[in-house]
Amino acid sequence: MEYPILGTEPLPVEFANTLYGGVDCLSTPELAAGWFAEMALAAPAPEAARALRDAVHGLLDARSKGLPLDEAQVETVNAHAAAAPTALRLEPAGDGWESRWAETATGPAAVLGRIATCAVELLAGGAPLRRCAAPDCGVLFVPQHARRRFCHPTCSGRTRQARYHRRRTEDPA
Ligand SMILES: [Zn+2]
Repeated sequence: MEYPILGTEPLPVEFANTLYGGVDCLSTPELAAGWFAEMALAAPAPEAARALRDAVHGLLDARSKGLPLDEAQVETVNAHAAAAPTALRLEPAGDGWESRWAETATGPAAVLGRIATCAVELLAGGAPLRRCAAPDCGVLFVPQHARRRFCHPTCSGRTRQARYHRRRTEDPA
């Protein structure tokens, strides 16, 4: 299966996008294992992953629509963030410094905690969230600039093509 992984988005956003176009990419243990493998993450228990994903998806979706956050979903994210050991380390990188997850935060038990912690930071930071404007897409993303409307250039290209096609078929010259 081809997973809807943009490769450009924060971890919780990629995670939320496992619910995409009516397909749940975490619906079976095999599918879930495949997604976590593609993200180079240890695969956690599938049921727990799906529960956290539903909460994260709900919260990011609400944010993208300007709706208030659901308290139960917030609680689920907070519980996952608290349950797993996540530790950020400051480490030298080239001429500067970067934050890296400590070894304790990379095992299967910690992966969901790490995703939840990232979701807490993302939502607290007030990052804008948007849904791709392509009618057949709707993937969530964080717009790097205010005018970005599509998750990926292929989506904007496809939409332009569809518009062109429609114009041609609607106005036969
Ligand atoms: Zn798209």
